[in-house]
Amino acid sequence: MDHLLPVQLVELQSIATDLAENRIAPLAAEVDAECRWPADSMQALAEAGLLGLQVPVELGGRGQGLLGLCVLTESIARACPSSALCYGMHCVATAVIAAKATEHQREHYLREIAAGRHITTLALSEQGTGAHFYLPETRLDADGDEFVIDGTKQFVTNGGHADSYVVSTVAADAEAGDFSCLIVDKDGAGMHWLDAWDGFGMRGNSSRPLRLEQVRVPARNLLGEPGDQVWYVFEVVAPFFLMAMAGTYLGIAQAALDEAGLHLHSRRYSHSGESLRDVETLQVRYGELWTDLVKTRALVREAARRGDAAHPEALPYILACKTEAAETAVRLANEAMSICGGAAYRDNSRVSRLLRDARAGHVMTPTTGLLKLWTGRSLLGLPLL
Ligand SMILES: Cc1cc2nc3c(=O)[nH]c(=O)nc-3n(C[C@H](O)[C@H](O)[C@H](O)COP(=O)(O)OP(=O)(O)OC[C@H]3O[C@@H](n4cnc5c(N)ncnc54)[C@H](O)[C@@H]3O)c2cc1C
Repeated sequence: MDHLLPVQLVELQSIATDLAENRIAPLAAEVDAECRWPADSMQALAEAGLLGLQVPVELGGRGQGLLGLCVLTESIARACPSSALCYGMHCVATAVIAAKATEHQREHYLREIAAGRHITTLALSEQGTGAHFYLPETRLDADGDEFVIDGTKQFVTNGGHADSYVVSTVAADAEAGDFSCLIVDKDGAGMHWLDAWDGFGMRGNSSRPLRLEQVRVPARNLLGEPGDQVWYVFEVVAPFFLMAMAGTYLGIAQAALDEAGLHLHSRRYSHSGESLRDVETLQVRYGELWTDLVKTRALVREAARRGDAAHPEALPYILACKTEAAETAVRLANEAMSICGGAAYRDNSRVSRLLRDARAGHVMTPTTGLLKLWTGRSLLGLPLL
């Protein structure tokens, strides 16, 4: 436990760590091998009252911000990165709903989420615009007190399992760059799930394409005002997404360090009786890996604290921290693969799963390429886009 965190967050971290060790970790290998959406993990998180992490306290939630999100996703990812990704995307979509929720959205969605009865998720990315997730091409047309949605989303985490989807769309008459987000309930007429997920890593996250054909959504499911979504992207989606992912990749890095440490402690040669722990070069390497991890964690939490405090210089920290966490996760998982030797390479070991899972960090948008560009631009006083 990290006792330097606020007391309430230490309690939440303790609940999440207990669940991660006892209910989530035992199923992580199966989730990966079978490409199985981690229903048991989500159920455990719901029963512990953690689905409402981002829901205001007055609606029965935990009222946490960015710091809470990166701390909890780290605890979960240390046990099962796919579970952390599914939980993280639920939390990001919850934060998007909560940002400007109407009375109906508060009662119908946020209270249900806080009660552990509703899972939501983000459906923003599309094949056409790829990494440029803030440019949806999915069409939105008004029709009386309903909207009609047409388009195809790609990589929808929790796809086919969530109760609702936060979908980005563009109206026919929208100004360039304007778009609108709506909550789309599951199983609506015209919603078609395409290919099943069979990813290189994050194999439990059920990231699937969703075709929306003339899907009708009540007008009251619009989030905010039509066209004020650029505000959502940079004030809510980006910070919450980046923190959820930074926490997830920190958890992977920590798990890789755990595995390396276990091997260094347990491996002993029969010919010399020497333990790997006694080899000086490995002692140096292990120390360097630990230092990488704690430096990255310090950056991630500094970014979260600045974001929660609406600090005027929060932006470059928030942009940089997910890139740093992804790089640290890949580096540590890669190093753990060497330190743990053939035993880690042989089977579909935990280290090999961590290495595959870590690689998602660079390609999930905002991708590492875009984030590095945006960090520099924000520091130079240039607009991000
Ligand atoms: C495991 C997983 C889960 C996901 N979950 C979700 C989800 O829940 N919801 C959702 O909406 N999306 C989700 N995504 C989608 C993810 O965000 C996409 O991978 C992303 O949109 C990238 O799209 P693309 O594959 O078409 O990449 P491309 O657009 O083809 O990009 C390829 C590469 O080019 C780089 N690039 C492109 N333009 C620039 C530029 N101007 N400057 C520098 N570099 C550039 C990118 O950084 C990237 O590295 C998920 C993806 C994965 C892998």
